[in-house]
Formats: sequence, structure tokens, C-alpha cells
Amino acid sequence: MSMGTEAPETERTLALLDELGVGYGCDVPIGPRTWYGVGGSAAVMAHPTGAEQLATLIERCAEAGIDSRVLGKGANLLVIEGTLGGVTIALDDPGFRVIDIDVNAERAIAGAGADLERLITSTVRAGLAGLEGLAGIPATVGGALRMNAGGAFGEIGPAVESVDVIEPDGRLHTLGRAALEFSYRRSNLCQRLICSATFALKRVEDQAALREKLKQVMAYKKGSQPMAASSAGCAFKNPKTQSEHGAGKLIDDAGLKGLRIGGAEVSTVHANFIVLHEGGTAADVLAVMNEVQRRVKDQTGITLQREVVVWEPDISQRTQSTQRTTE
Ligand SMILES: Cc1cc2nc3c(=O)[nH]c(=O)nc-3n(C[C@H](O)[C@H](O)[C@H](O)COP(=O)(O)OP(=O)(O)OC[C@H]3O[C@@H](n4cnc5c(N)ncnc54)[C@H](O)[C@@H]3O)c2cc1C
Repeated sequence: MSMGTEAPETERTLALLDELGVGYGCDVPIGPRTWYGVGGSAAVMAHPTGAEQLATLIERCAEAGIDSRVLGKGANLLVIEGTLGGVTIALDDPGFRVIDIDVNAERAIAGAGADLERLITSTVRAGLAGLEGLAGIPATVGGALRMNAGGAFGEIGPAVESVDVIEPDGRLHTLGRAALEFSYRRSNLCQRLICSATFALKRVEDQAALREKLKQVMAYKKGSQPMAASSAGCAFKNPKTQSEHGAGKLIDDAGLKGLRIGGAEVSTVHANFIVLHEGGTAADVLAVMNEVQRRVKDQTGITLQREVVVWEPDISQRTQSTQRTTE
């Protein structure tokens, strides 16, 4: 229940959540829930208990002009210090985290809040191939689908049979394979809220070989990326249309490996990762991203597009140190 001392927008948000019977918390730190482990808070974090309730929440937020956003595993997210208005939605109810595998039908159904790693290991253990190439990518199923997560061993898109989504106006429906579009780090799910997905997989005879493939993918990832460091994976998308080189190569060629601002640094292992050291802030990471974009543009004429999603509070809601760093 609201205590009645919040800002007007927050009061409206809390009144709506009370009316709909959606559970929530106030002033909830989000930074620690991201892979960077630092950053701002949500004025309100909601915990809907099912797709119908979530759809109503989205519909009513849209009508009332209340901003809404969904938090996944925070592995592709940078939350700048301060307080985010509107409502931040966590899909942590068990219904959103369900994983249901039908070996005979060669199919898996997963809630958007389910852990991708858990889905991969469960399907591989069941002898179903199709997702093992995504091993080592930290994500919820919803977060992975939204940006068609993938790498050297494939992307999530080809394994998808259908996705249950909520449109920005609150309409809940299913998109079948023909209505889905996946390309490099993109999908047509970006403006939609993903509730769950069905994956079409392939039953294999040689389960040991499938488990071995999983191990190989993991070993490759550990050997090529700073997996243990605090980061959000690749900071920038590979600019395929403008250059034959990946973003990491462009950053490396620009001599930016090791570039450091505050506690954030361009990784010396993989130039497209920006890692954060002890005591660093989300604003430091943003400052490094901006500097990398500026210098690569100066040297090559190519504008790198961010892969990492940045959530920035309104200026008035930022902490002082953040305002100093980003202005
Ligand atoms: C060490 C490391 C290695 C990585 N390696 C890879 C890699 O090899 N390949 C790769 O593709 N990525 C990689 N990443 C990035 C990250 O794993 C992916 O981008 C992943 O898909 C993020 O999912 P998430 O659940 O953490 O989303 P979050 O970071 O929580 O959110 C990212 C965006 O997705 C949105 N979102 C989350 N859930 C939903 C939903 N249900 N509906 C609609 N929108 C939603 C959020 O609102 C936000 O805009 C790596 C990250 C790290 C930290």
C-alpha cells in the first residue's frame, strides 16, 4: 500500500497498482540486479502474477501516461544513478519463470522471466537440440528474444515457434512463426512485452555429443570474453552495413583497449566489452561508451550503435555525481 508521501506520478502509479491488486515495492535498487552491479533505483517496481494482469497493467499505464519498462536479468542493461519514474516491471512470479519440456513433441515452453541458462541445460538434458549454441549468454528468455541473442554458435530466433506478447496498448496475443522477424541483434519484439515463448527443438539420438557441444560452446565463450568481469556483454553492435569489421576490431584499431574513465575501462581482453572496476559507477560506463563512440567516429567515420540498453532517470532525478559525469 502507498504511504501517501510520494511524488505525484508515483502516487498515481501506486494508486493504479493498488486498484489492480499488483504487488510492488518502492525505491527499489535496480543497479545491483544488473550485471554491472551498480546504478539507480526504480521509484516503483511491480510484480504482476500473470499475463492477464500484466496486460491490464500495460493498458492502464498507457492510458494514464505512466512509463513502463521490463527488467530481465540485467545482463544487457546500464541503469544510470538516480531514480527512474513510472513503473519497472519484474517478471519474477513463478508463472513467468516456468519451463515446460515435451520431449515427444520436441518442444519447450518457457516464461519470459525464465533463466535462459536453465532452459538450455534442461533441454540438453532432455536430449533436445536447438538452444545449446546459446550457452553462456546470461539472460532471461524475454531479454534474449527481444534482441535475438546469439553469437558464434547461432541465435535464439531460429528455434522459436511462437511468442506470446503484450502490445503497447495492452493487447495480449500470440505471434506465430510467420509473424516473427529476427535478424542480427534485432527482432520485431522490441516494442512489445514478451510473456512467454514456444521453442521447436530436435530430438537427438546421441545425447553425449549434445552435452559435449554445450561444453565446447561454454569453453569458447570463457576463452574469448571476460565472462567473470562486471560488464553487460558487447557494448556496441557490429556495424555490418558500414564496415566489414566488427565493433571490437574498430575499437581495438582505434587504440582504445584499456581506455579508462573513473572505474570503467575498455576491456583489454575483448575491446567491445566495457568492464567496471571496484568503486566505479554506471555513469562511468556511459562516459566510456560515449568516448569510444566519439573516437571511433573521428577515426573511421562510423557511428557505433549501442547494444547495451541504457536507462537514464530524468535530470531532476539523477544523483549529483551522475550529473557531473554525463554533462
Ligand atoms: C558476460 C556477458 C556475456 C554476454 N554475451 C552475450 C552473447 O554472447 N550474445 C548476446 O547476444 N548477448 C550477450 N550478452 C548480453 C546479454 O546476455 C543479452 O543481451 C541478453 O539477451 C540480455 O537479457 P536480459 O534478460 O538480461 O535483459 P535485460 O538486460 O534485463 O534487459 C535488456 C532489454 O530487454 C528488455 N526486456 C527484458 N525482458 C523483456 C521482456 N520480457 N519483454 C520485452 N522486453 C524485455 C528490457 O526492457 C531491456 O530493454 C552478454 C552479457 C554479459 C554480461
